[in-house]
Amino acid sequence: MFLNYPVSHSLSLSLPNGTTYTPSLTEEVLAEDDTSSYPNRVPTFHGYSFTGDASAEFVYVGRGQQVDFQRLRALGVPLEGKIALSRYGGPFRGLKVKNAQENGMIGAVLFIDPGDDGNVTEANGYAAYPDGPARNPSSSQRGSVQFLSTYPGDPTTPGYPSKPDSPRTSISDVTPRIPSLPISWAEVVPLLAALDGWGTPGDEVNRTRWVGALNVSYSTGPAPGATISMSNVMNDTFTSIWNTIGIINGTSQDEVILIGNHRDAWIVGGAADPNSGSAVMVELSKAFGALLATGWQPKRTIVLCSWDAEEYGLVGSTEWVEEYIPWLTEAAVSYLNIDIATSGPIPDISATPELHDIAISTMKKIIYPYRGSTNSTLYDAWYSSSQGEVGVLGSGSDYTTFLHRGISSIDMGSYGGPDDPVYHYHTGYDSYHWMTTFGDPGFVQHKAIGQYLTLLAYHLANDEIVPYNVNTFTEEMRQYYVALNRTIVSNEASAEVDIAPLGEAIDVFDEAATAFMTALESASSTSPPDPETIDVLNHKLRNFHRGFTSQGGLPGREFYRHVVFAPGLDTGYAPVTFPGVTEQVISGDLALAREWVGKTSRGVLRAAEVLGL
Ligand SMILES: [Zn+2]
Repeated sequence: MFLNYPVSHSLSLSLPNGTTYTPSLTEEVLAEDDTSSYPNRVPTFHGYSFTGDASAEFVYVGRGQQVDFQRLRALGVPLEGKIALSRYGGPFRGLKVKNAQENGMIGAVLFIDPGDDGNVTEANGYAAYPDGPARNPSSSQRGSVQFLSTYPGDPTTPGYPSKPDSPRTSISDVTPRIPSLPISWAEVVPLLAALDGWGTPGDEVNRTRWVGALNVSYSTGPAPGATISMSNVMNDTFTSIWNTIGIINGTSQDEVILIGNHRDAWIVGGAADPNSGSAVMVELSKAFGALLATGWQPKRTIVLCSWDAEEYGLVGSTEWVEEYIPWLTEAAVSYLNIDIATSGPIPDISATPELHDIAISTMKKIIYPYRGSTNSTLYDAWYSSSQGEVGVLGSGSDYTTFLHRGISSIDMGSYGGPDDPVYHYHTGYDSYHWMTTFGDPGFVQHKAIGQYLTLLAYHLANDEIVPYNVNTFTEEMRQYYVALNRTIVSNEASAEVDIAPLGEAIDVFDEAATAFMTALESASSTSPPDPETIDVLNHKLRNFHRGFTSQGGLPGREFYRHVVFAPGLDTGYAPVTFPGVTEQVISGDLALAREWVGKTSRGVLRAAEVLGL
């Protein structure tokens, strides 16, 4: 695989009055947290970042979304040849660097802003880690700067597996051509302060989350004569990675349930990301091991996957899927993903619609010690924050490649809210000490999430009939349709894009799904059940989701094939529904939007046809 590793980096600020400031770009060693002093701890850097130097005046660009840059242009802020200073949060970090590059900027510095830490901040009187639950001021967020929404995986082998003899393409479509560095909030303050009074003050920029919680004005700059000099040196290399795969053969080997979690971390600790998920995977495999020891065999084959190189851009899972796609297309029923099992108490579930019912009903069977209560279920805890809405899958973890090859998928975990201890995501303090002191003392959340994933996997692997409700797909698509219609109507230019064919396709799907669920009910209430009928129904449940994928992929991003959900082009993490149409309406390419009404409708009709009896 193509990967790169940090060799050296530096950053300095020079002011017109001759003073200079050189941040350390390192995280503090803490006596209380022994991973912070580990001899081969990982420096702060960006995976897939560009080797280069840049020296220029700089501009604060907010969260670095396309709309932020549009606003800066409208304000007349010069961008060409400058260095971008962007806060984390919102879009995937690689897209911040991409947008800076596309606006002619020559480097990017990405900082954590305590304004994204909710109410648990030093300003609100909380002590910083390790003395309290607020953010350690020196913490700095590593992470990949790949252009994730174009395609994930090894950037040199788009759409096919990366092997020693694979042909290689240029990486410049999906990795930056300008250097980037991460920095902590404590060390970014002098940089932001240098812009105070120059350009447009933050409160007049009028953009979402532009002004953060630091004691500066978040002015755009540039400040004449105030310059950043930065250097980023990476070792670009081809190296092996290791996916570890375990298989429990089922009695029906043409039906396969996959359960996956990544194993790589940005730091020596990684207690939450990914090791809380890996701990759950280990416990899950022990549970299935205990069942196997009794002579049990699951109905469906269970494949346990421990992915490598997820953090660089879902590399291990993407290349593995690209290698085994013929078999997966034949046999995969669902893919269950767990990444950060827990970084706080609030459960979070995103899934394709046919999995909603089983995902929700399984939550009701798990005791979850939510915020000290002893008798609440996982469902109670989930419901109180989600109001009963299962999330839509965007991207940001290993389910992505499965989903975009038409495999039903679910992703689960739990996170902290605005009043919970601050999770030090991708920093040196995502550590065992943090987890046992603040994140999940007693590992009670770990235990419940482990029980949940195991029980869910058990049902999916072993129920006589795959526990899907395809009517939920209709209900969800009707909601997405209403949302798309709203987008079109609110946008005068796109008013004549006719999405009625998509509405009609959803009606056809509705009819097929309703008839299918009726047949499924009668088959399951027949005793003894007729094995041939059950097989036919199970295969339809396994296969129908493939219909939603479009061979050529979404406009400009062949990898992303799903016509119902995709990560937003300029968000990377957050999803967009009916993406082929929605994104073209927003970008104003109405001819392409119309074409995608057709392609999306055909996807929905193909899925309906597979369900047809
Ligand atoms: Zn992760």
